[in-house]
Amino acid sequence: MNLGSTDRGAEKYAIDCKHLKRTIDRERPDPYAMLCTHIVRDDKDCVGPFLEDLETECGLWEPNTELVNRQKNRL
Ligand code: SF4
Repeated sequence: MNLGSTDRGAEKYAIDCKHLKRTIDRERPDPYAMLCTHIVRDDKDCVGPFLEDLETECGLWEPNTELVNRQKNRL
């Protein structure tokens, strides 16, 4: 849900997910792999998206430490 500018910092971007693992996989045409370490997805590709201003619809998303700290600094 997008609540607009009053809810800044609550957006769910895949890049900010604590289960995301960025790695290099030279077997792939695009070697920059974005994997999900959540037990449900078991190191499969993250569902993304990784496009600017597009939130993920992943129900497993949780904020990573960096995002939590950025949100605290906004208070
Ligand atoms: S698939 Fe979902 S839980 Fe896994 S890294 Fe991507 S956004 Fe996070």
